[in-house]
Amino acid sequence: MPELPDLTVVAEGFHAALAGRPIAAVAAPGPLAVRGTPGELDALVGQRVTDIRRRGKFLIVDLHRDRVVANPMLTARSQLARPAAKKPTKTAVVLSFGARQTSPKRPAAWTKRATWMPADEEPVEVRYRDPTQMGKVYLLPAGLDRTAPGLSETELGPDADDPALTLDVWRQRIRRHPGELKNLLKNQAFMAGVGNAYSDEILHAARLLPFRKRSDLAPEEVDALHAATKSTLTTAVDVLRRRVPPTFEKQVRDFLAVHDKGGTACPRCGTRISEVKPGGFVTSFCRGCQR
Ligand SMILES: [Zn+2]
Repeated sequence: MPELPDLTVVAEGFHAALAGRPIAAVAAPGPLAVRGTPGELDALVGQRVTDIRRRGKFLIVDLHRDRVVANPMLTARSQLARPAAKKPTKTAVVLSFGARQTSPKRPAAWTKRATWMPADEEPVEVRYRDPTQMGKVYLLPAGLDRTAPGLSETELGPDADDPALTLDVWRQRIRRHPGELKNLLKNQAFMAGVGNAYSDEILHAARLLPFRKRSDLAPEEVDALHAATKSTLTTAVDVLRRRVPPTFEKQVRDFLAVHDKGGTACPRCGTRISEVKPGGFVTSFCRGCQR
């Protein structure tokens, strides 16, 4: 499932490649992925991309009038491709973009002079595909009172990488959540963007066990969790900026320390990593160095 580091790199790459381009054509070979009418989809043609950004685990495309929001859920991925390149199977939505008309505002520094960047005059496509068909693409036309479920400000806390989520804010917000740490980190209303994989990584970095309760933590452990959240995500984004483009549809997770590495040696202490699967989702941790 794409999480904050994955979607940050997709949003930064797509923004740099697509902002300032008009949508030239739209197609929905998998119409069930789309929440909106065929007319609303067709109305995207001609609209210029002003911004592509991430909020929580959503990818948001702002056009000069309307907005498109993707919630990839478990398996949806988006590919940036030349129109002539072979389309992957299970492609549900294709947005085709024309030549760039204006420069993107504030592109991420790492995207400058990227070799994969399509030339301004070259047409380019985004292909959204989803083997499990759980993800959704929401069309949010201007002036219509429609939102994507889970995206409202009451449902989403601050993004985990938001500088406004300071240690003081963290200490305040965490008081309302006495339960297990893994659930706390994954709770989008507490903090947006972290899911099953990076919650394991953050807890390993903080040397805390996933099923410990927040109500049992010492104040310095609460602070360690904040520091681990920031450092784990910053490091992951740096790695993914180097390794993901131009295959934005690929999920790179091999560099993680513990998640989904059950049975292998902990990179910090050498203990064999433990793994449990409550509800079918893997939770990985180290009994040697997490308390
Ligand atoms: Zn360990």
